[in-house]
Amino acid sequence: MKVYQAERMDEAALREFASRPRIDFTSILGTVSPIVEDVRARGDEAVKEYTAKFDRVQLDAVCVPIEELPAPQLDPEAAAAFDLAYANIRAFHAAQTAAPLEVETMPGVRCRRLARPIAAVGLYVPGGSAVLPSSALMLSVPAALAGCETIVLATPPRPDGSITPEVLYCARKAGVTHVLKAGGAQAVAAMAWGTASCPKVDKICGPGNQFVTAAKMVLQNSEAMVAIDMPAGPSEVMVIADTGADPVHIAIDLLSQAEHGPDSQAVLVALPGVDVEAVQREVERQCDLLPRAETTRRALAHSSIVQVGSKEEAAALSNKYAPEHLIVNCADAESWLPLLQHAGSVFLGRFTPESVGDYASGTNHTLPTYGYARMYSGVGLDTFQKWMTVQELSAQGLQALGPAVAKLAEVEGLDAHRRAVTLRLGLSSPDKFD
Ligand code: NAD
Repeated sequence: MKVYQAERMDEAALREFASRPRIDFTSILGTVSPIVEDVRARGDEAVKEYTAKFDRVQLDAVCVPIEELPAPQLDPEAAAAFDLAYANIRAFHAAQTAAPLEVETMPGVRCRRLARPIAAVGLYVPGGSAVLPSSALMLSVPAALAGCETIVLATPPRPDGSITPEVLYCARKAGVTHVLKAGGAQAVAAMAWGTASCPKVDKICGPGNQFVTAAKMVLQNSEAMVAIDMPAGPSEVMVIADTGADPVHIAIDLLSQAEHGPDSQAVLVALPGVDVEAVQREVERQCDLLPRAETTRRALAHSSIVQVGSKEEAAALSNKYAPEHLIVNCADAESWLPLLQHAGSVFLGRFTPESVGDYASGTNHTLPTYGYARMYSGVGLDTFQKWMTVQELSAQGLQALGPAVAKLAEVEGLDAHRRAVTLRLGLSSPDKFD
């Protein structure tokens, strides 16, 4: 890991530090766009062909109602752990239900805002290099709570064409309605366009590799009329540590991010007095113990340590970087919160590794990466809802508001708008333009 001194970093160096490795979508779009168009034209047949080509699986059924799949058999300890995660995720997301909003903006003018579920959603659960049942829970629990009627979960099939039992267990528990046995751009396209077996969805959520991300980007700008959750890039963590933080814990938190994949990023912001060399030694030592040591080491090659002079400098650096995950392994961690503006999810104190949020504390692990925490939130209940506004005027309300509306319509030269008010107020004649 490269070591920087914050005081020696000028504005350009800071910008470079905060920037992520550029993702070149040009060549990926060349692969993904024809797949997307082919699935549009040939539906399930195209999905089957791409699944045979990229995943080496011959599918008989592409998308099936979940009740048609056999109930998965899970090791009881694993089932209990998923049940606990489910309960916490459900509790935290159910509490996000917002009360309907109602304001009488002036006497007789009542305005409301009501939440409505997105009717049909598609959830992408990655499955190429790792099996991610936790992502199935993180996406399907809020979708079901929001009241989405159709919830399609897409994930690459196993070599025998079946779905990973843990993913299926979580999907059934949370209320998924259909399972699409496909991954990559073909799965995203099938959900966006709809096929003979796969319902067309209105929004597609969830992480995935560059083919999945590129397909989401292509389809949101296409005639498919589909929304996506957020731009996604490789996962990342920033750890802010003070002298009281155990180097063993700092190291394993950095490694738990780095083991995700070679493009993951881990950044340590070290407050004065932190033994950076001890942390580096621990990172090396513990990395060697990991089965995924090789992948982890590749991620560490472009990860860094920044030594800062103060709490304020650390917070400013974090806000500049806008990490997906931010661990504050410091005394009085709560006092950092007012200083933190841009982070996907924050892990406060000595006993809160990122792993708890990845799996089971209750918060969502589908978070903005790549610096998008500046302007995007992670997945939550509202990801699967939209707001509908309502207004109702009494006769008295229209008397009071109408003249101003008529004037504004006149200024804009929209006479039907104006007359929709003045005819009701008896100020115009239906037979004569005024
Ligand atoms: P994936 O399910 O995203 O992709 C696998 C699919 O890619 C395959 O089914 C295949 O159809 C397609 N594919 C593979 N090679 C292809 C090719 N040459 N051309 C066209 N399509 C091809 O699984 P993955 O590859 O393991 O990637 C998972 C990704 O999800 C990782 O990048 C990981 O970092 C990310 N992830 C992010 C989060 C987060 O919250 N940000 C969480 C979990 C995973």
